Amino acid sequence: MAHVGQVLSVWLTMVAACTPRSSVQAVNEPERIPVVLSRPGDRSAVGAVPTTASGPLMRKPFHVLAKPTGPICNLDCEYCFFLSKEDLYPGDRFRMSDGVLEAYLRQYIGSQPDGEVVVAWQGGEPTLMGVDFFARAVALADEVKRPRQVLVHTIQTNGTLITDEWADLFARHKFLVGISIDGPAPLHDRYRVDKRGGPTYEKVIRGLRILQAHQVEVNVLTTVHAGNQDHPLDVYRHVRDDLGVAFLQLIPIVEPTEEGGVSERTVDPAAWGQFLIAVFDEWVRHDVGSTFVQMFDAALASWCGMQSPLCIFRETCGDALALGHSGDLHSCDHFVDAAHLLGNITTDSMIELVNSPAQRAFGQAKSNTLPVMCQECSVRFACQGECPKNRIATTPGGEAGLNHLCAGYLAFFTHIDGPMRIMADLVRSGRFADEITGIFAAAGRNEPCPCGSGRKAKVCHGR
Ligand code: SF4
Ligand code: SF4
Repeated sequence: MAHVGQVLSVWLTMVAACTPRSSVQAVNEPERIPVVLSRPGDRSAVGAVPTTASGPLMRKPFHVLAKPTGPICNLDCEYCFFLSKEDLYPGDRFRMSDGVLEAYLRQYIGSQPDGEVVVAWQGGEPTLMGVDFFARAVALADEVKRPRQVLVHTIQTNGTLITDEWADLFARHKFLVGISIDGPAPLHDRYRVDKRGGPTYEKVIRGLRILQAHQVEVNVLTTVHAGNQDHPLDVYRHVRDDLGVAFLQLIPIVEPTEEGGVSERTVDPAAWGQFLIAVFDEWVRHDVGSTFVQMFDAALASWCGMQSPLCIFRETCGDALALGHSGDLHSCDHFVDAAHLLGNITTDSMIELVNSPAQRAFGQAKSNTLPVMCQECSVRFACQGECPKNRIATTPGGEAGLNHLCAGYLAFFTHIDGPMRIMADLVRSGRFADEITGIFAAAGRNEPCPCGSGRKAKVCHGR
């Protein structure tokens, strides 16, 4: 099992884009009480979340997704929102120079508090940079970190270029590797295709098996779209059972069109909710504490009264930025455009850009623009209107800014209320949330559902 601090930090880091990991620990405010989903035998792992600041550059932690190849990728996934960013840099080679690499690592690591510091790589496809680039990055990061800092290296990849050499590097430096897999081959290959439109599943699984052979920690990122939205258990069981991966991140695909609608690949809001519900019901009866689903761990943090580890479920944004190959720093991975360019770290101070009025305004806008319907919503504490990039719908009252996925989130968060209350109570009483699996697994299908709804289990959480 991953170190609890690593797990939390990686979820934190990977949320902003096509990338992930789960949680075993979150942190209460203000007492900072660890929440542990794992079994008592894992308690020794608790407690590595950085908390203190010291020195003139110290600020509260922020997260950066670094993209050393910019939007360049060897695949051509139909829903990838980042490939089009190539247009922002016409004629560019899209390779991070050693100068930008050094400016980034020195400033980023230098500005983070003591404790765990996540160094996160993403793309495009970051492995196109080659093994040597990352070997240099790890060596430099080790050189610039302070003694009380603990580096956690993460990378999100499509997995197709993984070799023993890559896996050896990742294993030696304890990388947490995220691989994008959208389910069994027919579901995965629906949109995740190569430059010729061909399937990629077999190449991805080959890479995954190499990583597993080297004992590299892996999490699966699954995007949910029109092609797999009706197969939640096929997707979940494939990751858990066939692939043997214990960490899963689910990300909905929402693609607005110029005409004001959404693409045909976009996940249906109701289907998104039913997808999450189906996976949750399977998870709560079998897998709490052994399989980690980022969305569920984030929800538990919200039910425990803590700040969500996922930016999409926080009240404000602003602490998850995107760094391009050229050193350009943008407000967020989902807002890499001219309007959200904060500056360039080769000429500007990264910490000043992070704390700039423009970035603070960007972060605050998430809360300031929340529709009244969300403000008055019973599950606002867990949803917060989700990510602003998905707020392209209109409320029944005609107010703009409602999240396209609202119906799904409302159904999902309402459905999990009972089990989440049980898990939160377990945690508050010093016990482990995974005790809930025994409670729900023992309930007969015709018995009252343990969630307290008063309905039979077979029509509630025992379907
Ligand atoms: S816009 Fe905000 S909520 Fe959405 S991914 Fe970026 S930081 Fe997270
Ligand atoms: S469920 Fe819908 S109304 Fe409620 S906070 Fe989320 S987006 Fe807003």
